[in-house]
Amino acid sequence: MTTFFVSDVHLSESREKSTDAFLSFLDNGTRGASALYILGDLFDLWLGDDDTRFPHLFILDALKRVTARGISVGVLHGNHDFLLGAGFEKRTGCRLLPDPYVVDLYGTSVLLSHGDILCTDDVAYQAYRSQVRDPEQQHLFLALPMKQRLLKAAVLQGTSKEAVQGKAQHIMDVNKDAVEQMMLAHNVRHLVHGHTHRPGIHGVSLSGQTATRIVLGDWYEQGSDNILIWEKDTFRLATV
Ligand code: MN
Repeated sequence: MTTFFVSDVHLSESREKSTDAFLSFLDNGTRGASALYILGDLFDLWLGDDDTRFPHLFILDALKRVTARGISVGVLHGNHDFLLGAGFEKRTGCRLLPDPYVVDLYGTSVLLSHGDILCTDDVAYQAYRSQVRDPEQQHLFLALPMKQRLLKAAVLQGTSKEAVQGKAQHIMDVNKDAVEQMMLAHNVRHLVHGHTHRPGIHGVSLSGQTATRIVLGDWYEQGSDNILIWEKDTFRLATV
């Protein structure tokens, strides 16, 4: 029994290499797995379930092949693909999960999150996040023609790139207190997240006891430690 986790694949038209690697992972690498969790930012930009830009349809079909083999696939929203909706679920057989989400892995409770909600030092980002995650705002955005959605997204991405360049590295990492609070609130000793693109396994002190925070790497920048393999009593980061 094996469960796989990936995050921050950031699939887009210009990233042919990671698209090929991810398609091959879905078709071949997931064989023998019981479940796959995708912890957000699978797509570099998802503008609604009618967003059929390349390579989206190839990915949706490959996900469908995975779920058709009886592998359960859970997907969290990332800050690049938070508009994944019911149409995506229906087409792929994947389940969209709330963030954070507790999963039972062979008797161990593990908390899953994309990770952006833990970056509480970035006050400007959190304000932006609550705006774009507002159901009313999303409804209005999705009602726009795709051309307009693309234009608006391009403006937002430009603004966000500038903002990121002006921010100190530690501001864009997870906040230690936010991590501890979330783990305590869900009564877990293991947390898995992505978003920061800083893969690693970290010890966390939770009211005097040691807990574990596992960070998944991305699929296009460093491209290392981008898969977490969890078997009954062990887990390890590996590179696809
Ligand atoms: Mn992210």
